[in-house]
Amino acid sequence: MTISITDALNIIYQNVEAKSTHIVPIEESLGMIVAKDYHASFDLPRFDNSAMDGYAVKVNDAGKVVKIKEITFAGDKAEEAFREGEVVKIMTGAPTPNGCEAIVAIENVEVLENGIKLPTDIKMNNFIRWKGEDIKSQTAFLFARTKITAYTLALLASQGITHIEVYRKPKVVIFSTGDELKAHYEKIEQHQLYNSNAPMFYARAKELGCDVSYIASTSDTLESLKSAVKNAYDADLILTSGGVSVGDKDFTKEAFMQLGMKNLFSGIDIKPGKPTNFGKMDNCLVINLPGNPLAAMVNFEMFVKPSIIKLSGSKSFYHPLIETKMKDDYKFRAGKNSVILGKWNGSTFSPIPNQKPGMVAPLNLADGMIVTSKEISFLEKDKAVQMIAIKIDLQSDKEEDFFIK
Ligand code: AMP
Ligand code: MG
Repeated sequence: MTISITDALNIIYQNVEAKSTHIVPIEESLGMIVAKDYHASFDLPRFDNSAMDGYAVKVNDAGKVVKIKEITFAGDKAEEAFREGEVVKIMTGAPTPNGCEAIVAIENVEVLENGIKLPTDIKMNNFIRWKGEDIKSQTAFLFARTKITAYTLALLASQGITHIEVYRKPKVVIFSTGDELKAHYEKIEQHQLYNSNAPMFYARAKELGCDVSYIASTSDTLESLKSAVKNAYDADLILTSGGVSVGDKDFTKEAFMQLGMKNLFSGIDIKPGKPTNFGKMDNCLVINLPGNPLAAMVNFEMFVKPSIIKLSGSKSFYHPLIETKMKDDYKFRAGKNSVILGKWNGSTFSPIPNQKPGMVAPLNLADGMIVTSKEISFLEKDKAVQMIAIKIDLQSDKEEDFFIK
């Protein structure tokens, strides 16, 4: 019996949990998921300091000629207090002297022989960066189950944190089944086919932050399938393609069942990709996708991607939706929950003209996909649609004016 896409996703969400955590140097944590909240152990900035190369002044001295008492550079200790009639020359990042009421920028004073002339308008507190205004000591600055980016590393380094607790990368084992399949580095005969799914899954799982092992393909026998599964026992997720349909040699599910898989669903109400299976063998998740490359890809994006993200420890495992609209009219067959691959140009969605479950060419063109409900068979130009992002490379091949006017 097939289940709905929503039920399939919910079963996945309920059954996928992050594995253990470990501690890594921050430089090696890029793309990993933080395992706990991190609190600041000191204020940032640590001390009040100057936001400009300039002069620390008293506001009452506005418009007056004053003497330079001292000069403070970044890295120096704070100067003692200074009096009205005096200023402390100060560089960006240097600690402000006691009693500093504002900083006046170097370019706003007039240098005279007997001192410097301050501008007539000086605002209290101008250009002072306050202790703790960026990050307050003891407050959380990084949250559990979020992803580490280059900018997170800046944050961690600014707090002197060298090592961080992250979830372990999911271990994924990938293989395809099919007597017709050859690995892309092997010689091929006319009646055979290169295995394009396994390299695709391998790369996509890597992109999503997994440690991936790759068993190219097995033949369509129970023995061969079972031996591939036995080789994958230490995986968090075994991902296969092929052999899940009703063909005479479709033994994938049977092989896993014979090795103790608990089946959590078989068959989803989705086009393409209906025969997708999901199950568990001890602590290892199993997802069996169909062999047709476009169907495999669509169902990878729809079901495997959220599984991997949840397995990685992230709390952001739901499909992100981009609100867009149809570029042109589009007709398709009613009666199914259809997934339509398309291109997205930042404002409109255009379905890839020729997309069938067995094709490979459309995969590399798709930026995202939309899912239609069973009742409809037509989307008119400009209709609002929600796109699930697949490959949003937010770069452009044409120069555009980005100034907001
Ligand atoms: P199956 O799901 O095994 O019935 O395969 C469905 C179709 O997908 C058949 O035409 C297969 O030849 C093709 N196919 C299966 N596995 C792969 C693969 N790993 N790479 C490319 N095509 C495949
Ligand atoms: Mg097959």
